[in-house]
Amino acid sequence: AKSAGGNRFETADAEADARAITRHGLTNALPAALERNEFFIEYQPLVHLGDGSVHGAEALVRWCHPQHGVLGPDRFIPLAEHTGLIVPLGRWVLEESVRQARFWQKRHSDGGPLRINVNLSPMQLHHPGLVSDTVDVLERAGLEPGALCLEVTESALIGADDDLLKPLRQLAEMGVDIALDDFGTGYSNLANLRRLPVSVLKLDRSFTQSMQQHPADAVDLKIVEGIVSLAHSLKLAVTVEGVETGAQAAQLRELGCDTAQGWYYARPGAPDRIHTLLLADAV
Ligand code: C2E
Ligand code: CA
Ligand code: CA
Ligand code: CA
Repeated sequence: AKSAGGNRFETADAEADARAITRHGLTNALPAALERNEFFIEYQPLVHLGDGSVHGAEALVRWCHPQHGVLGPDRFIPLAEHTGLIVPLGRWVLEESVRQARFWQKRHSDGGPLRINVNLSPMQLHHPGLVSDTVDVLERAGLEPGALCLEVTESALIGADDDLLKPLRQLAEMGVDIALDDFGTGYSNLANLRRLPVSVLKLDRSFTQSMQQHPADAVDLKIVEGIVSLAHSLKLAVTVEGVETGAQAAQLRELGCDTAQGWYYARPGAPDRIHTLLLADAV
């Protein structure tokens, strides 16, 4: 402890120290974890709000740490981003989930164009290999570019210049969808949207949460209504995340949102879960 000011501070210091040690330890363990295949992917379905049928799935990475158990991405993605390991880790997530999407498609030839959503971190956006890596991964798996959606957060694109947007434009021209993730949490100018090569807005969970209240927050309702109408006039699809109740789903459907994701439909899970849902759709 820094002073004799009391246990409260000692405890706070000890906790901060423990967190720093863990952070340090996790950071150091990341490269070997990638080599030892300690990462795995869970998939969460995206459904059409209209009929609840499966539209695709988002790939969400986890780390099965030998001592700490399963760690969520919030625990290690920032560390991987900080050290640069996000580039090879992100490439692995892309490769693995694209391969998985192709596998689902083959098993469900009638299932329509099942799509796979993959998160891109800011450092991956800046990496010169992004376009060629993506082309490579798609070709090797035999997945058409139109089945891939890359999710980029709104904050990563705030103030983006042409150098940063160029690879995204190239991918979009190939047919890859670009989604603006966590939309509504940043401060981007809505008019700015026209400049970005995006085709999907993913409305942040905070909007969905406000639909929970009775009555739903009137201002948020208006905001979502406005975003949806603006998005549709720009030919963008709107996905909502964090749908936990049927009431939220109904409300968001009414507001004109296109697709949804959330615990109400399914939690992130093993790839077989998507397979089962696709089978259920087919009947
Ligand atoms: P995100 O892209 O916004 O992903 C959605 C998060 O919301 C996921 O958390 C998901 O499990 C959670 N979620 C889904 N439905 C619900 C719901 O109904 N209620 C609530 N409360 N939460 C729900 P998760 O899996 O912990 O991922 C956290 C973040 O980590 C992601 O946020 C994404 O930014 C990042 N991430 C995950 N996988 C990757 C990856 O492969 N690469 C990169 N760069 N980032 C990733
Ligand atoms: Ca996402
Ligand atoms: Ca999101
Ligand atoms: Ca988020």
